[in-house]
Amino acid sequence: IDRIQKRINSKEKFFSLEFFPPRTANGAVNLVSRFDRMALGQPLFCDITWHPAGNPAGNSPTSSMMIASAALNYCGLDTMLHITCANLNKEQITKYLIKAKNQGIRSILALRGDPINGDEWQKLENGFNYATDLVKHVRDEFGDYFVIAVAGYPQGHPDAESYEDDIRHLKEKVDAGADFIITQLFFDSQTFLKFVKDCRDIGIVVPIIPGIFPIQGYHSLRQLVKLSKLTVPKHITDVIDPIKDDDAAIRKFGVHNAIKICQELYKSGEVYGIHIYTLNREVASIEILKSLGLWCEEPSRTLPWKTTANHLRKSEDV
Ligand code: FAD
Repeated sequence: IDRIQKRINSKEKFFSLEFFPPRTANGAVNLVSRFDRMALGQPLFCDITWHPAGNPAGNSPTSSMMIASAALNYCGLDTMLHITCANLNKEQITKYLIKAKNQGIRSILALRGDPINGDEWQKLENGFNYATDLVKHVRDEFGDYFVIAVAGYPQGHPDAESYEDDIRHLKEKVDAGADFIITQLFFDSQTFLKFVKDCRDIGIVVPIIPGIFPIQGYHSLRQLVKLSKLTVPKHITDVIDPIKDDDAAIRKFGVHNAIKICQELYKSGEVYGIHIYTLNREVASIEILKSLGLWCEEPSRTLPWKTTANHLRKSEDV
């Protein structure tokens, strides 16, 4: 079994970190050095989001594919690549998965994605309608090569007819061959714990990893909830609205709130790993992980390129 799946199933504590691809080549350089610093804490994996409106599988340093390859091959991080069905037909998806495989990527987060233009999801000719179809396709074409994660929604997906309906569809996604679930962000531990219970009650047995979103700014929170069609609960707006112009105070609250949620989740005995939406920043995530005792600094970490360089030096010495 792949290292990621083995560790998740072992019920040892772990953390994983989500990043999005940079907008510029300079941003890519900065992000790679950030991966290096974050790798010191030993995440189980990092994952890279997929943005269908750009060229996510292209060869530019700003593509999801290339930044995932850099995290894996340059920084030595186990890396999960997100892939969505938006605007892609079956053949293109297969081609991109082969490319990911050739880069050494062994884990994917299989998603339907959101419509690029317009509000309603439209299936492409010879494309997929749901993430379930993508999961089936990956298993059909690649067998067990990829570890497959799928998305879960503790408050129900916004397009679903009901919360119950959404959980039934989540079960179909898992039954199609997904190995574990990563959740959408949520604002209190009870929402996540209820969701886990409801999933277990209908027979979803795979690990469910909570997506932890440390609030790092008033506007980034507003933007994210708009995109995800979530509502910020009153107990959070009551605190952040009066301090919305004080970035430092918002960040402090965000870290404190994330730590509190994680502590409650760990106390429940239901949670082993946490997944942090980093927003490509490091300070808040490191603070949270240190406070939870999950940041396991390994001072003698050897980067893959250093190993290669040492190896070359040795052979030159000879
Ligand atoms: P699906 O699981 O296919 O579900 C979509 C909707 O269809 C749901 O309402 C579901 O209930 C319904 N449904 C499923 N099956 C059926 C059926 N048989 N009949 C009727 N209805 C059905 N988006 C990106 O663009 N890029 C990313 O990198 C990205 N990363 C994400 C990571 C995580 C952890 C999460 C939680 C979300 C992410 N998203 C990303 C957002 C995601 O693409 C959207 O939420 C999208 O709207 C749904 O994707 P899905 O894979 O969950 O869809």
